[in-house]
Amino acid sequence: MKDEVETNNAVYKTLLESTKAIPWKIDWKTMTFAYIGPQIETLLGWSRSSWVSVNDWAERMHPEDREKVVAFCVAQSQAGTDHEADYRALTAAGDYVWIRDVVHVMRHADGEVEALIGFMFDISERKKAEEELIRLQKQLEEYSYKDGLTGVANRRMFDSVLDVEWANARRTHQPLSLILLDIDYFKQYNDHYGHIQGDDCLKSVGQLLAAAASRPRDLIGRFGGEEFVLILPETDGAAAKRVAEHCRKLIHEQCIPHSNSDVASLLTISLGVGTIIPQQHDQPLAFIEAVDKLLYRAKQTGRNRVEAAQWGIEDAVELRSTKPA
Ligand code: GH3
Ligand code: MG
Ligand code: MG
Repeated sequence: MKDEVETNNAVYKTLLESTKAIPWKIDWKTMTFAYIGPQIETLLGWSRSSWVSVNDWAERMHPEDREKVVAFCVAQSQAGTDHEADYRALTAAGDYVWIRDVVHVMRHADGEVEALIGFMFDISERKKAEEELIRLQKQLEEYSYKDGLTGVANRRMFDSVLDVEWANARRTHQPLSLILLDIDYFKQYNDHYGHIQGDDCLKSVGQLLAAAASRPRDLIGRFGGEEFVLILPETDGAAAKRVAEHCRKLIHEQCIPHSNSDVASLLTISLGVGTIIPQQHDQPLAFIEAVDKLLYRAKQTGRNRVEAAQWGIEDAVELRSTKPA
């Protein structure tokens, strides 16, 4: 029995100390560390034995984060509420690493707080990506990143955001979706209504699309001519298809007359929808080309419709045949 307990303890210890997340425990009464995983030394450079009291934790926090984070964690712990906090931790070399601390409050049977246990996660990469996206978002407010006619993101902006989201998706193994859409028989629209009304029509389409993709990280761009593109991060194939159908419906419901169209008497669009969890060898350009092929297929098979596929997702074996090169 004793052997079994010891074996179990050894297993738990190995598990705890071999994960990337750094486990720790703080005794509430003495406000001292009862335990901290050896991984802390690799991440921050401070020796394990240097983590004695909660002050060591607070002092190794970026001065701009300290007051807010400490006050928040103390209040949550006193209330007995599990919580998490992001902050910059000081390394022994004098740099900072973004950490997410996920905290569980352990209580005695009488409800009194006994200890805090938690895991520290290194979220530097995620923070870097977030900061990059915020920077790009700010640039979008500048004219050089906006399409002059429609006001949505231009091609340059699209390329930058796709690069960031591609790297994000690859790191987090989250699906990334892309919608490419093209107005049906737009040449005939121009021929019939004139180029100026054609421009107005493009503006309306841009505005309608902006309304269709509502999540903060979604990006709507003008891909060129009368083609638009939507980047939908952390969006699986089914959700992306719903967004695409919603776009199609929004344009249709706008009832923009197009009497010279061969497919309807109103303006319509065709859409290609691709979803991918990028693997090491996948390239964004090949993904765009694969989605463009889907758009082409939507055109070939009648227009005013959506054509979708996904790659790198386990249950999508039947679609592998169209995997981007
Ligand atoms: P399909 O259904 O196959 O897409 O037919 P389509 O006529 O839309 O395709 P095509 O690519 O041949 O024609 C695109 C047209 O879009 C041609 C071009 O004159 C028009 N176009 C591209 N950019 C602009 C623009 O900025 N303003 C206007 N008014 N028209 C544009
Ligand atoms: Mg076109
Ligand atoms: Mg067209």
